[in-house]
Amino acid sequence: MVGDNLPQPHYYAVRNLGGVRERPNRHAWKACEAQVSVGSNPTPSAMKSDVEAAMHEALQQARIAGEKGDVPVGAVVLHEGKVIASRHNERELTNDPTAHAEILALRDAAKALGTWRLTECTLVVTLEPCVMCAGALMNARIGRLVYATADLKGGATASLYNVCTDPRLNHQPKVMHGICEREATDLMKSFFANKRSSE
Ligand code: ZN
Repeated sequence: MVGDNLPQPHYYAVRNLGGVRERPNRHAWKACEAQVSVGSNPTPSAMKSDVEAAMHEALQQARIAGEKGDVPVGAVVLHEGKVIASRHNERELTNDPTAHAEILALRDAAKALGTWRLTECTLVVTLEPCVMCAGALMNARIGRLVYATADLKGGATASLYNVCTDPRLNHQPKVMHGICEREATDLMKSFFANKRSSE
């Protein structure tokens, strides 16, 4: 059976909507941290600080999106420790259903490097990617994905689907989450609270 090797879906996350928030794959961060590939970076801790700095920039992008009326999501692409793309969600701004922060950042990164193949890059994003963005990350052969907070209603890298770890696909990026989780969660909560109060 092909289905025997499928990763276990996290159905429990769906049932917890509105209740106590569970973190899908809650051990993933620690597990991945131990497997950090040093590559051209001098130490894993140096790489971690690059990722944390990138997440702060992604959060700043997310705030800009929120101020413009878009769901506050920001994404940054790192290459050799440097930011080569930094975007925010523009779906409302441009009336483009595909204008998620990750898609826009991947496009900018590919343009900057002159290749669609982003194997040496890390995408840092404030929210767990959706099905479309997880698909785009796979098509870009992204080396690593780091996200701040889970999207229990639409996340496609742990919460609802495990696109990035599906063994039937020919690419499996490293996935980490939990960096700046509180900030990213608060940003989303206050955005939707303000939206509700103004309706
Ligand atoms: Zn998306």
